Amino acid sequence: MQSLNKFNHNTKIIGVIGHPIKHSFSPLIHNIAFELLDQNYIYLPFDVPINGLKDALKGMLALGIKGFNVTLPHKEKIFPFLKEISDEAGIVGAINTVVNEDGILHGYNTDVTGIVESLNPYKDEIAGATVTVIGAGGAARAVIFALIRTFKVGHINIINRTEQKGESLKEYFSSKMLYNEFKTYSLLPPDLVEVFRSSKLIVNATSMGMSPEIDDSATTIKESFNSDQIVFDVIYTPIKTKLLKIAEGQGARTINGLQMFIEQAAKSFELWTGEKMPTDKVKKTLISYLNS
Ligand code: NAP
Repeated sequence: MQSLNKFNHNTKIIGVIGHPIKHSFSPLIHNIAFELLDQNYIYLPFDVPINGLKDALKGMLALGIKGFNVTLPHKEKIFPFLKEISDEAGIVGAINTVVNEDGILHGYNTDVTGIVESLNPYKDEIAGATVTVIGAGGAARAVIFALIRTFKVGHINIINRTEQKGESLKEYFSSKMLYNEFKTYSLLPPDLVEVFRSSKLIVNATSMGMSPEIDDSATTIKESFNSDQIVFDVIYTPIKTKLLKIAEGQGARTINGLQMFIEQAAKSFELWTGEKMPTDKVKKTLISYLNS
C-alpha cells in the first residue's frame, strides 16, 4: 500500500467530468485499484456545468491530465473536441472515457465492454433470440449496440415511457447498423406481460428502481418472468433492484449493474494505465463500502 506522501510531481491525474458529480462511484473504484496496484495515480471528480465543457478541456490539456471519464450532460457534447473516436463510441453516439495522448484526446465508450462482459456467460442462449430492452437513453443505446454487434440477437423489443424516443432509437440503429428487427412499445405494464414472457433476455436500461426510488419497477407482474429467462438491470444502486427480485422469485437468472459498472471501469483503467484492474478485489472492497 502507498503512503499518503505518494502524491508528487510524478503523480498522474485521472478524473471524471459531469454535472452533478457528487454521486459518482468512479473515484472510489479507481482509487481503490490504484492503491491495490501501488500506482502513482489519483482519480478526482470535477463538477463541470453544461457550458463549462470547452474551458474544462482546455484546463485538462494545460495541466496534462492523463485521462478522464465523461458523464451526463457531456457524453454527447464532447464529440467535437476529440481527435479520434473509437468505432463503438461513434455508433453508440456517447463517450464515457477519454485518453489524453500527448495533447490529443481519444474518445471511447467502455459501457459497451461492461455490457458485453456482463452478458458473455449467456452468449449462446442470446444469439438469434428475441430480447427486450427497457429504455431509450444512453445506456439503452450501448445495450442495443452490444446486442446487435456482439450477441447477434434475432429481434429487439424496445419499451420506453416516451414511445417516440423508442421509435427514434429504432430509426437510429436501422441507419447506423442496418438492423431492422425492432418493435417498440410504451411502458404500460399490463400489456407488456406477453412481450416480457416471450423474451429470452430482458434488460432494464432506465433509471427506474434506482436509489432512492427503490420500489419502482418496469413491471411488478410476476408472470412477466419465467425460469428460462435472463434478466439484466444496469442499475447498481441498489445492487438488487425490485425488478431483479421479482424475476429471481420466478426462477429467472439475473445480472446486476455492478458487474457492468466494474467492467466498464476496468476497461477505462486499462486504456489509461495499460494495466489490468484487479476486478475481484476491487469488487469486494466496493461491496463492503456500499453495504457499510
Ligand atoms: P438517460 O439517457 O437519461 O435515459 C433515461 C431512461 O430512463 C429513459 O429511457 C427514460 O425514459 C427512462 N426513465 C427515467 N425515469 C423513468 C421513470 N420514472 N419511469 C419510466 N422511465 C424512466 O440515462 P442513461 O444514461 O441511459 O442511464 C440510465 C440508467 O443506467 C441510470 O440508472 C444509470 O445509472 C444506469 N447506468 C449504469 C451503468 C453501469 O455501469 N452499470 C452505466 C451507465 C448507466 P424517457 O425517455 O421516457 O424519459
